[in-house]
Amino acid sequence: MQTHEIRKRFLEHFERNGHTVVPSASLILDDPNLLFVNAGMVQFKPYFLGEAPPPYKRATSIQKCVRTGDIDNVGHTTRHNTFFQMAGNFSFGDYFKEGAIELAWQLVTGSQDDGGYGFDPDRIWVTVYQDDDEAASLWKKIAGLPEERIQRRGMEDNFWSMGVPGPCGPCSEIYYDRGPEYGREGGPVVDEDRYLEIWNLVFMQDERGEGSGKDDFPILGPLPAKNIDTGMGMERVAYLLQGVDNVYETDLVRPVIAKAEELTGRKYGANPEDDVRFRIIADHARSGVMLVGDGVTPGNEARGYVLRRLLRRIVRSARLLGTTEPVLGQFAEVVRDAMGPAYPELVTDFERIERVVTAEENTFLQTLSTGTKIFDTAVAETKQAGRSLLSGDKAFQLHDTYGFPIDLTLEMAGEQGLQVDEEGFRKLMAEQRARAKADAAARKTGHGDRTVYRELLELGGTEFTGYQELASEATVR
Ligand code: ATP
Ligand code: MG
Ligand code: MG
Ligand code: MG
Repeated sequence: MQTHEIRKRFLEHFERNGHTVVPSASLILDDPNLLFVNAGMVQFKPYFLGEAPPPYKRATSIQKCVRTGDIDNVGHTTRHNTFFQMAGNFSFGDYFKEGAIELAWQLVTGSQDDGGYGFDPDRIWVTVYQDDDEAASLWKKIAGLPEERIQRRGMEDNFWSMGVPGPCGPCSEIYYDRGPEYGREGGPVVDEDRYLEIWNLVFMQDERGEGSGKDDFPILGPLPAKNIDTGMGMERVAYLLQGVDNVYETDLVRPVIAKAEELTGRKYGANPEDDVRFRIIADHARSGVMLVGDGVTPGNEARGYVLRRLLRRIVRSARLLGTTEPVLGQFAEVVRDAMGPAYPELVTDFERIERVVTAEENTFLQTLSTGTKIFDTAVAETKQAGRSLLSGDKAFQLHDTYGFPIDLTLEMAGEQGLQVDEEGFRKLMAEQRARAKADAAARKTGHGDRTVYRELLELGGTEFTGYQELASEATVR
């Protein structure tokens, strides 16, 4: 079943059941806590919190999501994209646990002739929050699931929050058993690759306060209403229904792999290391195009930095697969053709998108090979000296002169079994920013005002925000 059909069936099922179809929000929403939209509920947050009256009691959407926290999983696990599409249904004070479980079960196991996905009910496992006897008994009643296929987990796995103050609640996840060739029976399903998580049902009923992490925060009290927020990964359902081995081989992602084979002359499936690179290219090309489509441009801060990192990672991966030609424009075309039917703005806006990615590639290509040589020399010297830490100086030079995002240097060093003096790197970055600020101030006043520089340093310097923003984004769900 093609992704287009999976999307259609999802929306039709929920529309038939009284839900208003709401278009995807942009990947960029004005939420200070979020780098990118990373779940379907984000655009509905004010309704859950009671800050605005919901215009409908039930809604359904297919939301564009980017999760930079998953970037290092890409190509290595079978299930993580940086860009993916989350199908969701939402109830604002209308149906609750019973309705959510019923509606999900109907779609997942409903016959394909009848608009469902036709998954074998005997292969479905679920998790519930440890104390949630109600959800457990609903799974028995509605789906007839035996006790052993209903696993109970604690806060970390089965209590959802955005990672920041806001709506939260216990959740229940649906897993598909891929079979004994993929691991031990019984899981636990959250840990065992044999079981693929396809859908998360959140029983959004409480408000959380300030606290750290995924499982250490106070519950301030109940929300004005009991709500439902669910998220089903379209790429994961496609992966299962298309009988392929991972999300990168599904119908809308795989064409980029084919293009990469054509451009590099290598074959996907021939060598595990190359395969990871093919998958990274396919995944990142799609995220890159979707992000540029929503207005992000490559840069050194926050969102622009993430985009830059994604695009440069593609370019480097393509190099490692043996091509020296520019590739991004061609990959972008393939993404446009795959994603355009669902996101027509990619087609109408393609010229601009292509211009942005190509410019970024050209800038990077100018310095990539010299930078790589500098890097290789530094690695050789470090190893020769019997050290395992690449200097912050080198990382800074690579960043500053050769445009290597720090994550790229970290990744390349990791491949050589080395670490990087990140503290040293950050210090140099802070100094550079302070200098830039001082210079800007000097230009404004017409004389050099070094106090700005000193002040910033005394404050501990300006921080490199990439890390925190990536980290806080990663805590969500
Ligand atoms: P996982 O444990 O596999 O990382 P998750 O628990 O972080 O997934 P949720 O936050 O519950 O995922 O998101 C809801 C659904 O979105 C998941 O059940 C899955 O189907 C899908 N999903 C989440 N992250 C990704 C991703 N990186 N790529 C593709 N689909 C995803
Ligand atoms: Mg999970
Ligand atoms: Mg989940
Ligand atoms: Mg995850």
